Amino acid sequence: MAEHRVTCIPGDGIGPEIMAATKVALAATGVRIVWIDMEAGADVMDKYGTPLPQRVIDSIRDTRVAIKGPITTPIGSGFRSVNVALRKELDLYANLRPAVSIPGVKSRFEGVDLVVVRENTEDLYAGVEHMVGKDAAESIKIITRYGSERIARFAFEYARREGRRKVTAVHKANIMKLSDGLFLDVARGMAANYPDIEFEDRIVDNMCMQLVQKPELYDVLLCPNLYGDILSDLCAGLVGGLGVAPGANIGEGIAVFEPVHGSAPKYAGLDKADPTALILSAVLMLGHLGETEAAQVLFEAVRQVIGEGEHVTYDLGGRAGTAEMGRAVAERVERLRK
Ligand code: NAD
Repeated sequence: MAEHRVTCIPGDGIGPEIMAATKVALAATGVRIVWIDMEAGADVMDKYGTPLPQRVIDSIRDTRVAIKGPITTPIGSGFRSVNVALRKELDLYANLRPAVSIPGVKSRFEGVDLVVVRENTEDLYAGVEHMVGKDAAESIKIITRYGSERIARFAFEYARREGRRKVTAVHKANIMKLSDGLFLDVARGMAANYPDIEFEDRIVDNMCMQLVQKPELYDVLLCPNLYGDILSDLCAGLVGGLGVAPGANIGEGIAVFEPVHGSAPKYAGLDKADPTALILSAVLMLGHLGETEAAQVLFEAVRQVIGEGEHVTYDLGGRAGTAEMGRAVAERVERLRK
C-alpha cells in the first residue's frame, strides 16, 4: 500500500484537540500516512518570531498535501492572518467548501448537496485599500481573466470528475458590469468546453434567496472571492452550521485541507469542540490522495456516528467530548472495514 507524506498543522484554540481526534479516525482507515507535524499560529510567535515560520511553507511545498486546524487572527494587533498568508504564499487559488446534509444534524433542510467553489486570491481580498483624505476609504475589487479562467476551469473539472450535473456562476454583473461582467463572460466561455455539464448564472442576491428556499436545485456554485465567502457560510447554515463544514484550499499540485470554522477560543482545552468539520476535511484529503475507498468509509462512519447521536458533541445534541467522538468514528471505521 502506498505511503503518503502529509504536513500537519494543528493550529491553536480548539485546533490541537480536533486534530488529535481526526488523526485517531484517520489511523483506523489503514491508509499509511507519514505525518510531518508543524507549528504555526499565535502560540509560536515567541519561539519563531512569526506566526508562520518559513519551515511550515517549505514542508507543504515538499509534501504537496497538508491538513490544518484553525488559527486565531487577533483583531487589530497588526498580526497578519496566517490563513490568508498561506493561501497567498502557496497560490492556493481554489477554495472548495462542500455542504452536505447529514441525517442527525439539526437543520431546516434535508437532502442538500452543494459545493461552493470560491476564487481565493482576487476580488476585494486583493488587499488594495486606501484612505481618500480622512473621511473616505476605497477598496479596489480586482478581477482578472487569468484568475477567473483558472477558477472556472477548476469548477468544471471538479464537476466532471465528481459526476456533478450543473455549475452555477454567481455574480452581480448587472451593477459591476466590468469586474463581475468579466467573471461571468469567462465562466460562460469555459462552459462551452464542457457540454456534459449544465451551466447557468445567478445574481448573488437572488442566489441567496433561492438557496434558502430551494437548495436542492443547486449543485456546484462558482463564485468570486467575496460572494463565495458569504455563500459558503450560508450553505454551511443550510446543513447544520460550522461544526460540520469542511473545506480545502487547492493550487497547482498542492492542497491544504481545513475546516471552515475558526479556533473557537472559548472552547480551547475543554474537550468540547466538534471534530466533524476537520474529519470531513480529512475525507476530502483522502479523496485527493486517491484513497477513494478509505474516504467513503470514513464519511460513512461519521454519518453513522452522528445518525445514532450517542457519541456526539454538544452542538449535535450530545454529551461526548472531542476525543470520545473521534474514538467513536475510529471504532465505526474499523467495524465497516471488517
Ligand atoms: P469560530 O468559528 O472560531 O467560532 C464561532 C462559534 O462557532 C464558536 O464560538 C462556537 O460556538 C462555534 N464553533 C466553531 N467551531 C466549532 C466546533 N468545531 N465545534 C463546536 N462549536 C464550534 O469563529 P470566530 O469566533 O469568529 O473566530 C475565532 C478565531 O478563529 C478568530 O481569530 C478568527 O480569525 C479565526 N478563524 C480562523 C479560521 C481558519 O483558521 N481558517 C477561520 C475562521 C476564523
